[in-house]
This record gives sequence, structure tokens and C-alpha cells, in this order.
Amino acid sequence: MSHPRQDATALAQTLREGTLSVQEVVHSCLNRIHQSDAELGAFLELEEEAALARAADLDLRRERGEELGALFGVPVAIKANLCRAGAVTSCGSRILESWQAPYTATTVERLLAADAIVLGSTNMDEFGMGSSTENSAFGPTRNPWDVASTPGGSSGGSAAAVAGGLVSLALGSDTGGSIRQPASYCGVAGFKPSYGRLSRYGLVAFASSLDQVAPICTSVRDLELAMQVLSGGDPGDSTCAPLPPLAPLAPRTHLQGLRIGVAPQYFPAGVDPQVKEAVEQAIRHLEGLGAATVEVDLPHLDLALPCYYVVAMSEASSNLSRHDGVRFGTRIDGDGSLDGMFSSTRGRGFGAEVARRILLGTFALSAGYADEWFGRAQRVRRLIAQDFERAFETCDILVAPTAPGAAFRLGERNHDPLAMYAADILTVPASLAGLPAVSIPCGFTSEQGPTLPLGLQLIGPPLADAEVLATARTFEESTDFSRSPTQGEDTD
Ligand code: GLN
Repeated sequence: MSHPRQDATALAQTLREGTLSVQEVVHSCLNRIHQSDAELGAFLELEEEAALARAADLDLRRERGEELGALFGVPVAIKANLCRAGAVTSCGSRILESWQAPYTATTVERLLAADAIVLGSTNMDEFGMGSSTENSAFGPTRNPWDVASTPGGSSGGSAAAVAGGLVSLALGSDTGGSIRQPASYCGVAGFKPSYGRLSRYGLVAFASSLDQVAPICTSVRDLELAMQVLSGGDPGDSTCAPLPPLAPLAPRTHLQGLRIGVAPQYFPAGVDPQVKEAVEQAIRHLEGLGAATVEVDLPHLDLALPCYYVVAMSEASSNLSRHDGVRFGTRIDGDGSLDGMFSSTRGRGFGAEVARRILLGTFALSAGYADEWFGRAQRVRRLIAQDFERAFETCDILVAPTAPGAAFRLGERNHDPLAMYAADILTVPASLAGLPAVSIPCGFTSEQGPTLPLGLQLIGPPLADAEVLATARTFEESTDFSRSPTQGEDTD
């Protein structure tokens, strides 16, 4: 069951005007969650009392005529890999099942400073490793468009919460597509910022050279608002660019002068014909708005998936070594020896996919093999980034599908890791090159039965975040693909 989607920009405005109280909005969101989340499984933790107390406080501040933030009273959800002081930050893992973060992530601090209300933490593939949210230790999340399908992953809980109308905005993270691919599967707008645009302080590390905090919303206008709130330098993260907050560009109704790049490599054999058709139509629509299409060549794109998995697994094997039962979370004593404690804790604390990646990543970094695997992947990564650099000499924005198909069914790829990894084939290239990339709805398919949304990906040069969002906004506001899941239209 799902509910009509809620626009954050409009909601904050209504709340600031006072025609609706923050407490009313929070009560209504909590009711929606109680009605639908047993089925959807978007939330891992719900923080009702804290949310209601904060709502009362915000209402009071409005009555007193105090200054109100850009996200005043907007209900938000936070992926369970973003630290919040005192809240469980489980990362979807048994090993951190009851771990309470000692501090709050910068991006979450910024949402709070803009007067948003956190309703709880959302489900995810364990440590962000997966493409369907089925790798969560706490059960899967379901897609609000079709509860037999996955919402994508790893930020599937955040995507389902926004698409199902439970919150207006959610934070997730995108390492190789974990915001864009679920946004595509759930028919919402998800943005992976340029690497370094948002602070990673307080984001539990998966693959540090790829990880980015990323917002998911019902519209591009909301993504622009979210980015304005979330961005800006942070002394807590030396990889966060010391730039001012991202100001949205003025909305445009045409795209005169814009050169959109189309690369044949973004349409490999595995792309569903319906996806291809929807993206080609989107390209024609962009041309109708005044954009000029140029064909570009990305000769190393077919190496992106293996390259990504070697890099991501290697970095993960190093990052996850800290979860040893000594410093964080669960400890299982085992045979009583120190080694026994390490191996029991890690053996039982991590799920199968995480264990697989730690093993493969450790191998790829091991003496004697590191140059052949990790070193070679790093060199391929550079070639992919150079392909993009060359492409952006002749175009401003690349247009591609977000995922090769629509949402797949729960259980369908669980026992086939390579089929699961293939869901990321079109999102990992931008991640490897650190580029800003957005996914927005561009069509529907009913081929497998229920109507499911399809996603369009727009990718820009490094730090062209505002341009990517502005183009996406022009597309979105001149089309009609952003809808609530049909099955929920008459509820609430
Ligand atoms: N699905 C990809 C993976 O499993 C990407 C995950 C992510 O972006 N966190 O690695």
C-alpha cells in the first residue's frame, strides 16, 4: 500500500505559512507508515516520540515568529549508514545491530539545521553492498509499485519511503548506483553528487573513493533544495571540496544551446528494449526543448563493471576490518581466545555478500596479486575517467538509461551475484569518474504485469551538479512521468 507523494518544497512553504501544523503533518506521516510499512519494510527504526516532540517544538517556534529553515517541518528518513548521535546505525548488518553512533553525520546535521524532522532510519543492503535491499540482515524492502518486486538497492528503504509517500525526502548513499538505481526502480528522483560535493563525515565507509551521501525526493526541484541545504565544505571531511552551498540555477523552459551526448556504450546488449525506447524518446523530447544531440564515444565503458567491483571490494575489505568486535557493535566470544573472538564476531556478524566481498577484496590487495588486480583496476578507472573528459569536450550532459531494466522480482537474483551486479552496469561508470549523475522517471513498462517506472540518467562533468539538476528539472517539468504508484492513488 502506498500514498500520494509529498513535495518537500511545497510542504515546507505551507508549514511556514502556518495553514497546517508540523504536528499534523508528522501525525499523518506516522499514520501512513503504520498503515503501509509492515508490508513495505522501508524503515528499520521509527523514532515517533522524538519526531513528535520536535514537531511540537517547531510549531512553537513558528508561533513565536522565529526564523524558520528551508525544510521547516519536512519529514525525512535517513539510510541506516548515516550516523546520528544516540540512534542505532546498523548499516543493515548484524554486526552493528544495536550500535549507537556517538556523533551525527554532517549532512544529517544540515538537514536538522534547516528544520527537517527525522522520522527514522531506512533499510539497506548490508553496508551498502547490493542492488535490491535483499542483503539486509533485517529482511527485504518491497517496491511500492509492486510489492513482489525489489525497490532496488542499496538505498531501497529510502527510495520506497519516498515513493510510497511516507516521507518527502530521504538520504541515502551512492557508491556505485545505490541512489540512482533505486530511484529508477521506484519512480522518484535521486541524485549522486560529484565526488567531494557533500561531506562524508558520519557516513559509514564502504568504498571511500566512491561513496557519496545522496538525496532522494519526489521531484528535481526538491533535489535542488536538498543539495542547497546539504552542500558546502566541511572541515570534518578533507575530501569534501571547500565550496559554498550549491545554488540552484534559474529554472528554464527550453534547452537552447545545450549539447547532450549520447554514447552507444550506454546501450549494451542487456538493456531492455522498453528502456531503450523510453530513453530514445526522452532524447527526442530534449531535442524538442532545443538541445542538440552529439554522439560521443566511451571506449572503456564495458570495463566499468569489473573495474568497479575490484575497486569497491578492495576498499571494502580494508574499511570493514575495523568491525572486529573490539571497537564497535556486536562481540561474540567464540572459543575464548582473541583470534576466536575476531573470527566468531566477523563470521556471524557479516552476511554472505559482505563476507564474499571481504574475501575477494583481501585477495585483490594481497601481496603478489595487488598489481594484477587492484593496480590494474586503478589504471582502468583512469582510462574511464579520461573517456568522460574527452566526451565532455564536445557535449555538456550525457544522457543514458539508469538501469538496464525495470525493478526485478524479489528472490530473482539472490543466488546469482553476477546477475545482481549487472543491475549497476550503467551507474558505476559515473561513480568511478566521480561525476554528478541524476536519475529521473522517463517512462513505464507493464511487460511483466504490474506497471513499473523506468529511469533516465543525466551525467555531467565534475562539479557540474547544478547544470545536471537544472537540465533534469526542465525535462521533468515538461513531461508527466513523475507519479505516485498507481496502486496507492485512491488511498489516504
Ligand atoms: N549495487 C552496488 C554494489 O553492490 C552499488 C552499491 C552502492 O552504491 N552502495 O556495490
